Amino acid sequence: MEEGKEEVKSFNDLGVCEQLVEACDNLGWKHPSKIQAEAIPHALEGKDLIGLAQTGSGKTGAFALPILQALLETPQAFFACVLSPTRELAIQIAEQFEALGSGIGVKCAVLVGGVDHMQQSIALGKRPHIVVATPGRLSDHLSNTKGFSLRTLKYLVLDEADRLLNDDFEKAIDEILEVIPRERKTYLFSATMTKKVRKLQRACLRNPVKIEAASKYSTVDTLKQQYLFVPDKYKDCYLVYILTEMSGSTSMVFTRTCDSTRLLALMLRNLGLRAIPISGHMTQAKRFGALNQFKAGECNILVCTDVASRGLDIPSVDMVINYNVPSNSKDYIHRVGRTARAGRTGVAISVVNQYELEWYIQIEKLIGKKLPKFPAHEEEVLLLLERVSEAKRISQMKIKEPGGKRNRKGGDDDGEEEIGRYLNGKSSKKSKKH
Ligand code: AMP
Repeated sequence: MEEGKEEVKSFNDLGVCEQLVEACDNLGWKHPSKIQAEAIPHALEGKDLIGLAQTGSGKTGAFALPILQALLETPQAFFACVLSPTRELAIQIAEQFEALGSGIGVKCAVLVGGVDHMQQSIALGKRPHIVVATPGRLSDHLSNTKGFSLRTLKYLVLDEADRLLNDDFEKAIDEILEVIPRERKTYLFSATMTKKVRKLQRACLRNPVKIEAASKYSTVDTLKQQYLFVPDKYKDCYLVYILTEMSGSTSMVFTRTCDSTRLLALMLRNLGLRAIPISGHMTQAKRFGALNQFKAGECNILVCTDVASRGLDIPSVDMVINYNVPSNSKDYIHRVGRTARAGRTGVAISVVNQYELEWYIQIEKLIGKKLPKFPAHEEEVLLLLERVSEAKRISQMKIKEPGGKRNRKGGDDDGEEEIGRYLNGKSSKKSKKH
């Protein structure tokens, strides 16, 4: 990451051992990111840490490297446990541990909901060094999986702690804290510092060193932020206009509800755009499927709810569009953190209607600046109106059809099947070619 304009340090300078410097090198990490440069020396001294850092700052490396270095010194099973609020983030964290630890034979297990218990118990039976888990599933295994305990744990990481607490994981976290040793190192990472995070910090950490990778709620300099004020009835039109103006870019389009991710993705595909939805209503397998299609470039527009705005390690998103302005301004920071990562440039455009103006004003207050308008020519935008309205109408009809309803057993169809059926392979074939 090219954050250090002042004095560029190397991983070596931070005290990282040869084997791990080599692992960083293999991943193309030439210099430590800011959070890594600040956190790693304290961590190697054995301090507890609180890191205020966003996804994209390199925070996973900031905790994974010191843990792996300590593991090299005293290898043991169930050495560290990382708690994450989402399954996707848990998997990405484990992937980074595995990538950094591949030369030293590190074994990881991922314990997340929506995946077979038995498979996970077998993985635990292999006595991994690192367990990455969502709190509910970990607590479940601690109570029900014979022979599994974290009594010898040396490191606990709470990643995205603000989110861990918002999502009502508190009970599970309390249960976990009761059965792990008090004598351990604890690292807490969070994008924002809330009252609950402070409470958790007091409960779990000892004299922690506090590190901030960015000043409070700031967005990175390489991010170009813009807004558009539009009447609600033309919102879809403006969205399509922006996406076509910026065609060739990879985009994440944020909506408020799971249902609207499906509807919008269907509408966009109907207009020939390569969009795919991802939301909390989809099964684990479908979420991965969607994410992989997006990562592989088969689709270049990911239509998502805030579930997808946190943690997901999606490289090089060029643009974030807020199709709905978030009512909680901190969500704005998380969403736009999906672009302009690791020193790259990015664009974030918020499409604001008459009902969302208040929320938008709150966002400008939080980031402390007035944003410029996205340049759009209304006459050109409205030329799209008829096609967009028709595409939306057809998509709404399709979703209402019995086969297109969210589904049978309480809710898991992301609209992909119906998209495929509806387009008769037309647009999906097209999308595969790219
Ligand atoms: P994170 O904030 O931990 O989710 O990391 C975001 C992305 O930055 C991941 O794809 C990492 O592989 C990458 N990354 C982490 N540290 C570095 C580094 N020092 N140099 C370059 N890329 C990095």
